[in-house]
Amino acid sequence: MATPEKISSAQRVYSFGAGRTDGGAGLRELLGGKGANIAEMARLGIPVPPGFTITTEVCNHFMHHDGAYPDGLRDEVAAGLSFLEQATKKRFGDRDNPLLVSVRSGARVSMPGMMDTVLNLGLNDQTVRGLAARASNPRFAFDSYRRFIQMYADVVMGVHSSRFEEVLTASRRAAGVDADHRLGAEALEALIGEYRVIVRQATGGDFPQDPLEQLWGAVAAVFQSWNSPRAISYREMNGYPSSWGTAVNVQAMVFGNMGDDCATGVAFTRDPSTGEKKFCGDYLINAQGEDVVAGIRTPLPVSDGPDSLAARMPALYRELVDVAGRLEGHYRDVQDIEFTIESGRLWMLQTRGAKRTGRAAMRIAVDMVDEGVIDQRTAVKRVAPEQIDQLLHPTIDAARAPVPIAKGLPASPGAASGKIVFAVDRAVAMARDGAQVVLVRTETSPEDIDGMKVARAILTSTGGMASHAALVARGMGKCCVVGCSDIEVDYAARSMRARGRVFEEGEEITVEGSTGKVYAGVIPTEQATLEETFERFMGWVDGVRRLKVRANADTPEDARAARRFGAEGIGLCRTEHMFFQEDRIDWVRRMILAETRDERLAALEKILPMQRDDFIGVFRAMDGYPVTVRLLDPPLHEFVPGEAAEIAALARRIGADAAILGAKVRSLHEFNPMLGHRGCRLGITFPEIYEMQVRAIMEAAVAVRRDGVDVHPEIMVPLVGLRAELSRLRVMIERVADATLAGAGMKLPYTVGTMIEVPRAALTAGEIAEVSDFFSFGTNDLTQMTFGFSRDDAPKFLRAYVEEGILPCDPFETIDFDGVGRLVRLATEEGRRARPSLKVGICGEHGGDPASVRFMHGVGLDYVSCSPFRVPVARVAAAHAAL
Ligand code: ADP
Ligand code: MG
Ligand code: MG
Repeated sequence: MATPEKISSAQRVYSFGAGRTDGGAGLRELLGGKGANIAEMARLGIPVPPGFTITTEVCNHFMHHDGAYPDGLRDEVAAGLSFLEQATKKRFGDRDNPLLVSVRSGARVSMPGMMDTVLNLGLNDQTVRGLAARASNPRFAFDSYRRFIQMYADVVMGVHSSRFEEVLTASRRAAGVDADHRLGAEALEALIGEYRVIVRQATGGDFPQDPLEQLWGAVAAVFQSWNSPRAISYREMNGYPSSWGTAVNVQAMVFGNMGDDCATGVAFTRDPSTGEKKFCGDYLINAQGEDVVAGIRTPLPVSDGPDSLAARMPALYRELVDVAGRLEGHYRDVQDIEFTIESGRLWMLQTRGAKRTGRAAMRIAVDMVDEGVIDQRTAVKRVAPEQIDQLLHPTIDAARAPVPIAKGLPASPGAASGKIVFAVDRAVAMARDGAQVVLVRTETSPEDIDGMKVARAILTSTGGMASHAALVARGMGKCCVVGCSDIEVDYAARSMRARGRVFEEGEEITVEGSTGKVYAGVIPTEQATLEETFERFMGWVDGVRRLKVRANADTPEDARAARRFGAEGIGLCRTEHMFFQEDRIDWVRRMILAETRDERLAALEKILPMQRDDFIGVFRAMDGYPVTVRLLDPPLHEFVPGEAAEIAALARRIGADAAILGAKVRSLHEFNPMLGHRGCRLGITFPEIYEMQVRAIMEAAVAVRRDGVDVHPEIMVPLVGLRAELSRLRVMIERVADATLAGAGMKLPYTVGTMIEVPRAALTAGEIAEVSDFFSFGTNDLTQMTFGFSRDDAPKFLRAYVEEGILPCDPFETIDFDGVGRLVRLATEEGRRARPSLKVGICGEHGGDPASVRFMHGVGLDYVSCSPFRVPVARVAAAHAAL
């Protein structure tokens, strides 16, 4: 089995089309997704312009050898060119019948617009005349040459495209036309002269006339674009290693800009925003590919309306739909395709699995199961955990919303508000200062990626559903509206005009990506309702996963929300939140500031029934499922006021002496409260507090049990580091709990366990398990104490750590596998060895992070617990881990 690999790595150039296809979909790593899929289309007999792919291995060689190519590559490329010449019956650099090619990037995964492509390569002052004569269409030839100089100068020679755009705009204005395709041959020829001057001024040299020199220049530039800042930033965002490299595809040009029987477009076999089974896309008559995605001309819909491709070129439209259907059937997934029609002939230029919103991903997966195309397990794999999160995104209640200020195309769902900003650097700066921003542009380009990252929503005035902005926003799961011609952006004035009203930078708007509507001000949003499709899909998810998923919920409302999202119990019910409510906080303060034990007991007697009622609500909501209640955890000073005036007011309310109260408050001061008098240390020194809590828990359990609720209380002691701490508290807990049950004359199962959040607890887990029924990893504190990173101060330097590559990611977001993760593994193994029935879960923020969930699955935990909204995400992550 080793030989084919050997052979493939010796071969560096793979041809496709014209009956000589070397590659195929299986060679994606070597040929990149674009090259592999073009080869696959050629194999399927679908019309693709012939070409050849230079492998990603050549890219790696190029990177590691200062831009040098492996020996023999030039010969292989020359052979590729002569294959192309035979297949097209044209010659590269020929004055009469020149072969033109595109030089296209393509990594193993699609990185839309992140790398470079050059079209119309092979044109020079001579070949352009040959092309004009052949096509009997000088306009088309000069248009192609004009485009080529602009693209090549930008990509290869580093002359920014905007310099050419300026003279292009001037030339349009002089000719009195509103679009490039209305410029005549003479105007274009004159423009080429001006372009040449720009190149000379910028580089001190002439635009290269030798097609081979052009070709190698473009190949090198495409390889280099793998390491462009925007490509690097995109890779980092998606976790793709730099070692993948990009392939280069050299392909014979087909022309969508030869006249009105030509067109070019992009299409999806199903709607990538909603998932609806409907062929859709954008196209332009008499244009070249990049025009559609660049958002310079607003494209037309392929399927609907009098200007659609279906209406204008019905036979070709049917052929396109047929090819698209074959591709979807072949790949068993929605395809995103590029096509060009040259003088009435259809050519396919690209196909790939479509990027889609969470809603679309789920609907398509479910529909494809119903259509018998894929099985349920494949369907589960098709929806990323984070995409589920998008489904839970908020919407705006149309009935109660005001009149929108503008409406565009619904490119990516959700609804979000923020301050408008028109420049990327401003967006980044404002976001750094904590503002929620909405990025507004005429269109976006890959250079805008950092601004798109920090924005809560993206709004563009031009561009279609497949524009750069739409594609990238959907990938990020970010709310986005494009093609919003109701707004007019003025970059210089940092403002926009929407239906007659001017909005300055910093003014707030709300963007609704699901409908394309834009509102002035902040419009309240509401949670999405979960549909039947969601329930079915999640049913398959639950059939696959092994890890259970619980929620962190402190109140009956949260508990009910958690159940709706499919939580199988509560993994962390914090009791301190219950203390802060207005009607009880003063009793809590009396309890804390009490001078005597009797005073403290009196205050606790008042708190007990309130706490019991909370537990009753939570237990009812979790009928049939376990509820882990954590006894009081934070340091006591968090509950008392710090300011003199507030202390005086409190003293008046509870009838105490302000001076004595002030002294008592000061005595609670700690230098390092996170490592201070908190957690079980409180339980040891003030046992009355924990006793009251245990009584409240058990009385609540008894009360709901009497109503027939199936209740499973799990009493959890925080911050244990020593076996003795837990064994001592366990005696107390069992004494109080058993007395409560005995008083009620009831038998009821309950368990006593601990959080593992102090490194010492993890290291001595075997001993601790002897007195613990369960472990729950509190990975927030465990991370904080293992690294010695204060959770509150770490953001200041963690960003730099991640940027500098000192840490792969923020360890408070994704668990640190090697350090904290090792403690989790060790404690789980040693704990289970000491007590085989030990139940083990995690209740830190990591419980909702897909990568951490995968890790916990690997360690063999029983459950993860996360915030209610993350529960569906964690369920899908757990299913993916099991697959
Ligand atoms: P990207 O990865 O940014 O989409 P592509 O390599 O796909 O870049 O090319 C950019 C545009 O040029 C696309 O619209 C594509 O269809 C078009 N294009 C690429 N090669 C050719 C060709 N040989 N003939 C006609 N159009 C082409
Ligand atoms: Mg493309
Ligand atoms: Mg903790």
